[in-house]
Amino acid sequence: MEDLGILEDGAVAVDDGKIVAVGKTGEILAEHSGTVNVDASNRIVTPGFVDAHTHFVFAGSRETELELKIKGAGYLEILQRGGGILRTVRDTRAASKDQLIQICKGRAENLLLHGATTIEAKSGYGLTLEDEIKSLEVIRQLNNQTPLSLVPTFLGAHAVPPEYQTKISDYVTQLCENWIPQIAESKLAEFCDVFCEKGVFEIEDSRRILESGKRAGLLPKIHADELYPLGGAELAAEVGAVSADHLMYASTAGLQQMKRAGVIATLLPAAPLTLMLDKYADARKMIAEGVPVALGSDLSPSCWLENHQLVIALACYKLRMTPAEAITAATINAAHAIRRAHEIGSIELGKKADLVVLDATDFRFLGYRFGTNMVDMVVKNGKMVVENGRLTK
Ligand SMILES: [Zn+2]
Repeated sequence: MEDLGILEDGAVAVDDGKIVAVGKTGEILAEHSGTVNVDASNRIVTPGFVDAHTHFVFAGSRETELELKIKGAGYLEILQRGGGILRTVRDTRAASKDQLIQICKGRAENLLLHGATTIEAKSGYGLTLEDEIKSLEVIRQLNNQTPLSLVPTFLGAHAVPPEYQTKISDYVTQLCENWIPQIAESKLAEFCDVFCEKGVFEIEDSRRILESGKRAGLLPKIHADELYPLGGAELAAEVGAVSADHLMYASTAGLQQMKRAGVIATLLPAAPLTLMLDKYADARKMIAEGVPVALGSDLSPSCWLENHQLVIALACYKLRMTPAEAITAATINAAHAIRRAHEIGSIELGKKADLVVLDATDFRFLGYRFGTNMVDMVVKNGKMVVENGRLTK
C-alpha cells in the first residue's frame, strides 16, 4: 500500500474513454501528436477517487441532531425523540422518485467536484419493498444522468422498520424470502449488505440475510463490529464477503480470518468522528496482518461528507495511515472493495480514463492540506467533467 508507483514528468494518453498509454511526457507527446493536450505541470495526477461505502440515496437532513449529539444525547435517545435513521426513512418514503433524483444529482455533482469518480451507493432508507426499489432505481437512473459511476448495494437490513419493531425475525424472513429474490431478479443491485449490530441484526439474522443474497446472486458486504465486538469480522470471512466495513471492535482472530478469506476491510474514519466516539478502527494492525484496507466516506444524513480528500486526511490523522497508504485505500483498494479493480482505481493501460488533477506538487498534500478542495480537473471516461475546479456543462 506504500508503493504508489509515482512517475515524475509523467503523461497519460486517452482515447475513446480509455487509457492507451502511460509514460514520460516527451515519449507520450511524440507518439500521440495531433490530439488535445491538457497541461498538468507542477500538479499531481491521481486515479479518480473511489468511495467504497456511501448511504447515497436519502431525502431530508438532520442538522438539529448535531446539537443533541454535542449535549451528549446518545443514538437511542435521538431515536426516541423521533429522530435518527427513522426520520430519514420517513423523509425518503415521502419523496417521489423524481424528487430523489434531483436531490441525488446535486450530491453526485458535489462528489465529482471533490474528485470522486465512482462510488458504492446503498439503499436502506426506504425499508418497504416499494421504497427500496425506488431508491435503487434512483441509483440506476443517475448512472445515465451524471458522469459519476454508482455501484448499487441493497441494504434493506439497514434498520428494523417501525412496522416490524417487535418482530425482527419476521422482517428478516420477509427480506430473505421475498425482497432479496425480487431485487436480484430485476438486477437493481450487485451487493447485499447488512447492518450487523447488537440489538439490530445480530449474527444469526445477518448470516441468513447474506446467505439469501448469495443464493440470489448478490455479493455480500457487511457493517461489522462498529459499536460492539459481535463477531462481524468472523462472519464476513465465513460467508466470503467482498468487504467488511467499520471494524472498530473487530477481534484479531476475526481480522486473521478475513485475511485468509480475502475480505477487504473498508474503513470509514468520518463515522466515529461524527458519532463523537473516540474509537477508531485499528488500521495499523490490519495492514500489519496483511488485510487489504479500503476507504469510504460513509456519506449519510448523520455523516454528511462529500469531499473524499477529507476522508484521506482523516485516515492519516485518525487511523495513522500514511498518505501513500490512504491514497491506495481510496483508489485501487476501494475499487477492489466494489469489484471494479479490472477497470478503475489505477492509471493503467486499458483502464477507464478516470483521472484527477490536483493543485498540489506532492502526493503528501493529500492528508497534509485538508478542508480545502485541491481538485483542479476531473476526467471521467476520458471526458473533462471538472475544469478549473468547476463542472463543465
Ligand atoms: Zn454504513
